[in-house]
Order: sequence, then C-alpha cells, then structure tokens
Amino acid sequence: ADSQVDVIVVGAGISGLSAAKLLNESGLKVLVLEARDRVGGRTYTIQDSKHGPVDVGGAYVGPTQNRVFRLAKEFGLQFYDVSEKEKTVLNVQGTWAKYIGTIPPLWNPIQLLDLNHVIRTINSMAKEVPCDAPWKAKKADKWDTMTVKQFVDSIAWTSTVKELIRIFVVSVMCVEMHEVSLLFALWYINSGGGIARLSSITNGAQEKKFYGGSQQLSEKMAAKLGPVVLLSKPVISIEQDGDTVRVTDNKGSVYKSRYVISAVPQALLNRIQFEPPLPSQKLQLIQRIPMGSIIKTIMFYPEPFWKKLDMCGSAVSDTGIISYCIDDTKPDGSHPALMGFILADKAREVIHMTKEERKQAVCEHYRNVFKSAKFLQPVDYVEHNWMSEEYSGGCYVSTMPPGAMTRYGRYLREPFGIIHFAGTESATYRAGYMEGAIESGERAAREILYEIGKISQHQVYQDEPESTDHPASSLENSKIDQFLPSVTRLIQIAMAIVLGMLGNQIYSWFRG
Ligand code: FAD
Repeated sequence: ADSQVDVIVVGAGISGLSAAKLLNESGLKVLVLEARDRVGGRTYTIQDSKHGPVDVGGAYVGPTQNRVFRLAKEFGLQFYDVSEKEKTVLNVQGTWAKYIGTIPPLWNPIQLLDLNHVIRTINSMAKEVPCDAPWKAKKADKWDTMTVKQFVDSIAWTSTVKELIRIFVVSVMCVEMHEVSLLFALWYINSGGGIARLSSITNGAQEKKFYGGSQQLSEKMAAKLGPVVLLSKPVISIEQDGDTVRVTDNKGSVYKSRYVISAVPQALLNRIQFEPPLPSQKLQLIQRIPMGSIIKTIMFYPEPFWKKLDMCGSAVSDTGIISYCIDDTKPDGSHPALMGFILADKAREVIHMTKEERKQAVCEHYRNVFKSAKFLQPVDYVEHNWMSEEYSGGCYVSTMPPGAMTRYGRYLREPFGIIHFAGTESATYRAGYMEGAIESGERAAREILYEIGKISQHQVYQDEPESTDHPASSLENSKIDQFLPSVTRLIQIAMAIVLGMLGNQIYSWFRG
C-alpha cells in the first residue's frame, strides 16, 4: 500500500491503542499493526463457554489508576469490588493464621517489629527514587549494585519477614528477589504508590475488576478507531529514511508513515529489524530487561465454601504452587472460583507438568492452605502460561537486574529518529500496570504532537486528575508504626538499659 499515514503504531495493547486514540482525536491519520489475531496484548479475556468472561491476563484495577478509570468511563465500562469481607490466610514459615487487612498477624513481637521496620525502610527509600528518572536518585549507584535479596538479607532479622518480602516481590514482579536490582524494585514500588497500595485489595491495586473483563478496554478503543487497526500483522522491520518510515509485516506488506510509535514490550524489540539499526545503548538495554515468569490459574468450584469457613479466598503462602490467590467469583455470586498466581521459580518448576498435573497441584495447595478437602473437587480449571506467548515473552512486565537501570534506564523512552517508544515499561507512574500502559501511550502520542507543533513541550507529560468516582484514601503508616523500633534498635535499647543497670550496680559497689 502506497498511501502514507501520519503515524503507524506497532502493537495494539492498551498502550498502543491509547496512543492511536489520542492521535486520531487530534486529527492525525493513524494505522495500528498488531501481531496477534486479537487486541489487548497482556490483557486477555477468554469467553469461556461455561463461565463467561474470564480474565487470564491483567485484570485488577484500584484507586490511583486514574487513567484507566477515565477511559473506562468514556466507554461505559463498569467495575465491581473483589471480595474481601472474610479473612485472608497467612501460611508462611510454618505459621498459619487468618486475618483482616493488609498487615499479616505476626504474634511474635520480634517478627512484628522486623516487618514494620523493613516495610517502613523500603517505602522511605522508594520515595527517594524519582519516578521519571530513577537513575538520578542520590544513592542510585549503590542501590543498583545489589539485588533485593542482598538488601533484605542485610536488614531483616527473621526468616518470616524475609519470606513475606519475597512473596511480595514475586507477586508484583514475577521474579525472585535475587534476580532484580534493588534500585529497580524501589522505583517500581514508588511508581506504584508503595508496598501497601501494591499489595492491598481494598484501597489497593487488587480492589476492582471490570464487569465483562479488562480486554474490553482495548476492544472499545479499537472499535472506535475502526478499520485502521489491522490484526495478524507481526511487524518484522522498521526502516526510517529522513522523514518517512517503512514498516514491513511478516507477509512482506509495506506500510509508510511520517512517524512510528513502537508499543510492543521492549524486551521483544530484538525481533524487529531496524534500519538504521537501533542505537547501541538501546540495543544493550533490550538485552537487560527480561520479562517475568507467570502462569495464571482460575479454579472453579460448585460453591464458594471458603466463605462459610470465614475466609475470603485470599491466601499468602510460601509453600505449594500458588504464592497468592484471590476470590474470582462473578459479581452476581455465580461461578464460584479462585484465581491463583504461579510465579517466578514456581512457574519455571511446573512448566513441564501437564495441565492436569498442575490442576491437581493447585487443588492440593488450596486444600492445604484453606484446610478443607472440598478444594479437591473443582468443577473446572482454566490456566494461561504467559511464558509461552511469543508476542509477550512473559509477564506481567520487564524487570532489571543490577546495573541496568543506572546505565540504560534513560533509553527506555528516548526516541530514535522518528520512532517513539511506548509500553507500560516506559511509564513513570504505575509502570507495569494498565495505568502505565495508558500513560506511556499518551506520552508517546504527545511527543509526536509536540514535534509537529500541535502542542508545547510542557504538555507532553500530563498528570492525571484523581478519579472522582474512585478516589484513593491515604495508606500512610499509622503513628505507632512510624515510631515502633526496629529489632536492631530494640536490642540497642535493651543493651543500654542493661549497661545502665550494670553501671549503677558497679557504682553502688564502689560507694558501698
Ligand atoms: P502489551 O499488552 O504487551 O501490548 C503490546 C502489543 O504488541 C501486544 O498486543 C502484542 O501482541 C503486540 N506485538 C508484539 N510484538 C509485535 C510485533 N512484532 N508486531 C506487531 N505487534 C506486536 N496490570 C494491571 O493493571 N493490573 C493487574 O492486575 C495486572 N495483572 C496482570 C496479570 C497477568 C497474568 C499479566 C499477563 C499482566 C498483568 N498486568 C496487570 C499487566 C498489564 O496487563 C500490562 O501492564 C498492560 O496490559 C501492558 O500493556 P502494553 O500495551 O504496554 O503492552
């Protein structure tokens, strides 16, 4: 096709479609080329013949995901709350307990002080990492030379707290603590609003789901864009020559434009041939941002019997196949189900099992953590292995090992000639989430609007006003949490008291 458009967007995930939508609304001619035979990328709603829409990719939205709420409202999409009325189960280091809220009930005061101190320390360090330029943090170099595991091992006293932080890391990044740079993790936590926001259901990242599934967000954007969204068109090369770009798909069709937005996961950019080749820093970057490892599972049961046991269906566990699970029953109470994540090393371990064997392992896990044999009798099982998706390469997101963020992080967003880069990995706020996908797509679109003189430079990044329908409440630590001593401090205080008493004793001996 010789007709030239203004912008070709490569990838019809939330990011690419948000970019195309904004450009289209600004009067530009766009074309979207998507490799898969569907839109939505890492959001994927299976239309199950028995159970209706089932989200096997990104699903949860919560306060502070204001761009998602804005777009959802525009398209009339609605949300429902994830069930959390009953108790969550904690199954870590031999402790089994049921609790309400975000902080697990550690009855041992040393563990409680330890957990409080580690969370408080990580949150306050995270706040020192600028979301738009983590490499500029004062201690960026130091924090980027170590893994999260090295840091946690250096400050946590108890194995229970180390395990809880490990479960947090695998649950939000799909990598083990030893795989990821401390600086990267601190940036990710700050970009996501802190540990409590990321790990909570109520008032947190897992608060809501879309009625009908999250893929609708992309489907609605694609429907609005119309026939300019082309499916089953994997892009294999992008050639830029002065002010024209030639984009070629795997069947040899060539599409021309003035600009390109690449909205594919950047870890996959090596599969596209660029002419001229990508700059050396970008080439190096894309070898240092591996995608996470995850299999998402949904187990259907005849009834939500966990509720009768005073459990909401959430469990945090360091044994068994599922690190974290949540109730996934439909909002009208039909199709009782549990959603469970198989994450990082666990996902790699069970990848060779058959689906039936994994199903059995998931059921046994639920029987053990919820302590009822009823969990061995499911009615159905759905799973999705994101590690085998050639156009994702893994999920939820790319992370970085030590050394990458300080040396290469700045090239995530840097345009290359007339090619601009989007995708949730390149976001500054809620990177890795649907929110980050929209932020990055709209930012890349505005970079082009700025280049063609439609907006000014300071309009390229735009903060999103808080959703009035879904405002966020503060999740700051309580005053007590802020002043509770760490275990180290407690020992220092105890030593000071003992030494003081000893001193008094010695003094009185001499006097006496
Ligand atoms: P993608 O969705 O990956 O879009 C990229 C698109 O590019 C894809 O459609 C892909 O097919 C296409 N593509 C790739 N290569 C080519 C090529 N060569 N040519 C043309 N097209 C190409 N987020 C949340 O907010 N909440 C959650 O609860 C949540 N949980 C998650 C759970 C799972 C199991 C997964 C997988 C993800 C989860 N996420 C969650 C993350 C969220 O889904 C992503 O952040 C978001 O969807 C990323 O959007 P994107 O457009 O940046 O990338």
